[in-house]
Amino acid sequence: MKKKIVDNLILPSGGIDTHAHLDLENFSEDLDAVIKRAELKGVTYIVNVFLDIASYNNNRKLFEKYQNIYFTLGIHPSEASKVGEKDINSMIEIFKQDSRLRAVGEIGLDFYRNYSQKTEQIKVFKQQLEVAKQLDIPVVIHCRDAESDTLKILEDMGFKDRPLIWHCFTKDIDLGERILKNGWMISIPGPVTFKKSEKLQIAISKLPIDRMVVETDSPFLTPHPFRGKRNEPGYVVYTAKKIAEIKGIDVENAWKILSNNAKEIFNI
Ligand SMILES: [Zn+2]
Repeated sequence: MKKKIVDNLILPSGGIDTHAHLDLENFSEDLDAVIKRAELKGVTYIVNVFLDIASYNNNRKLFEKYQNIYFTLGIHPSEASKVGEKDINSMIEIFKQDSRLRAVGEIGLDFYRNYSQKTEQIKVFKQQLEVAKQLDIPVVIHCRDAESDTLKILEDMGFKDRPLIWHCFTKDIDLGERILKNGWMISIPGPVTFKKSEKLQIAISKLPIDRMVVETDSPFLTPHPFRGKRNEPGYVVYTAKKIAEIKGIDVENAWKILSNNAKEIFNI
């Protein structure tokens, strides 16, 4: 018989999942239920990340009635080859009109999938960093197998000590320290709960929790005990619980710190 997973971890309300893709098809059947379940688990706020301008234009309306859902918008590096000057300009206009948009992202470099050429990825990344500077808002970074290029671009463009979240941090202490040295935040996803994530767990044990936020990246990167299923914002409590364990502090306390860090950077 298959063991049923008990989903009984509930944390105080006011928590936040800093990175979800609820506009993807995976949630088209039950978006309302997903958001309600998250609320019941203490996840009062969700930041939905739109991966390109078309997704924003088509799907922003899905969230009209959910006042506690905020947004980021950025052209994902995998979409970089489809982008023109016009898109960058329309992005600026969109940001000026929508007060629930709180950051440019996820933007960056993905040399793992390489869906767009490196030169195109770098160009579009830099253009969007300029947008963030111009609008004076935070950025959310996507970086896969491109750490040194990403860091170099950010440091060269003067992003040290600007508000920035390094999304989906799954690396080691060296990268973590470099991020902290630049004054940025680290966003921890579900895989921290996996047994094999030792390096990441060691990094977390050494990095200060006041520079961390938690995310689901729903529908991806589902934490234990739901690994293998679709991820959803309510499950972010399991990621917070793991961080609390690693840090040796109680989970309610960790939850409060992680949530406050996120609210501060997103101005919630
Ligand atoms: Zn994402």
